Amino acid sequence: MKTIQEKDNAFVWHPFTHQLQADAPIQLVKGEGIYFTDDKGQTYMDAISSWWVNLHGHCHPYISEKVSEQLHQLEHSIFSDYTHQPAVDLAERLLKHLPVNQSKIFYSDNGSTAVEVALKMAIQYASNRGQERHTFIAFENAYHGDTFGGMSVGARNVFNQAFQHFLFEVCYLPLPSTENIEEIKTTLLLYLKTKSVAGFIFEPLVQGAAGMLMYEAEHLDALLRICKQHQIICIADEVMTGFGRTGQFFASDYLSETPDIICLSKGLTGGYMPLGVTSCASFIYEAYLSNDKTKTFFHGHSYTANATACSAALASLDLMETELTWQHIKRIEAQHQQFVVELQTKTNYENVRCRGTILAMDIPSHEERHYLNTSGNTVAKWFQQHGILLRPLGNVIYVIPPYCITEIELNRVYECLLAFDKTLTN
Ligand SMILES: *Cc1c(COP(=O)(O)O)cnc(C)c1O
Repeated sequence: MKTIQEKDNAFVWHPFTHQLQADAPIQLVKGEGIYFTDDKGQTYMDAISSWWVNLHGHCHPYISEKVSEQLHQLEHSIFSDYTHQPAVDLAERLLKHLPVNQSKIFYSDNGSTAVEVALKMAIQYASNRGQERHTFIAFENAYHGDTFGGMSVGARNVFNQAFQHFLFEVCYLPLPSTENIEEIKTTLLLYLKTKSVAGFIFEPLVQGAAGMLMYEAEHLDALLRICKQHQIICIADEVMTGFGRTGQFFASDYLSETPDIICLSKGLTGGYMPLGVTSCASFIYEAYLSNDKTKTFFHGHSYTANATACSAALASLDLMETELTWQHIKRIEAQHQQFVVELQTKTNYENVRCRGTILAMDIPSHEERHYLNTSGNTVAKWFQQHGILLRPLGNVIYVIPPYCITEIELNRVYECLLAFDKTLTN
């Protein structure tokens, strides 16, 4: 009999994995709260919420119960010409939390498709109004998913090197800071004057895959204000930042200017199921209302608005709306803030930073600061041996825990970060 690892090696191709040199993957057999258990009975604390998706812990009894109920009621159905209560309830409830200008919810099934939908919405918005728009504005180092539209508006890097020729034109802006904001405003104005811009897409306040790079709401507001003055559609990709990660319900809640389109996924279902949402302001939706059928938004996925995924999202929202969850979020935020001071003053880590429940730091490295930087593997393995699941982005270590992590458990992660720092000195 072959082991699961042997069969995995024989039959499976893993995401973002250098298959030739990868260690045999650990076989997880159970999830409970913030812990996984493997086939040998070893436990791992999931300190990165399984690629930033899990909000309330694994196998949360309440969400599991709600999903199970839905599975016995209506598991999935076509979503053209038909509808169902979970999708309608979820749309209504999401709109209560989203910025007030958001008025319609379009469903898809992951973060990349949520972005793809947003880009197509913006392009066809222009074309339905008789305009041709050819380019988007995005930030350097951006990550918006792995489909062609998502790759196009993302940074051009090792992730998409082989596809360069197939990616559409994008104008990039550096991430804004107090030092460069005036210069960036000038660059933005130049793009708006010389290019036909369909939209400006950004990860608000934290660029996740770039290595948890953080920037200030006031600077983003300054850029959004310019885009708004020029009637450029502003797209907030909140796939990672949504649902409390940054300390507010959405990172957009820190802004004075409201995005026209917002993309959600990852935490949307509490990390239970794939689901994507693209919300938009009414003026965008209205550009598609016409007797001319060619102005229809011809986009959809087989699993659009999957009823079971919607039920997981509704259950996760129930938990997001409790006092307890926000106490957790605020406590994690406060713990991070306190620990950042310690890291900044007493350790080798560089650029120690936090925003809401996200904590990040760079390991000093002579190699280039990017995803292929080898220090990440060493770090992941070291923490794995200490029972903590971390998966650094190159030389960037980050912690994004499920909100149910206790004060003591989070302190244990901190202690390991301090212990690992000692290995850097020696
Ligand atoms: C993860 C991510 C995506 C892509 O989502 P998938 O569900 O992995 O396709 C898009 N944008 C941002 C900001 C992300 O963090």
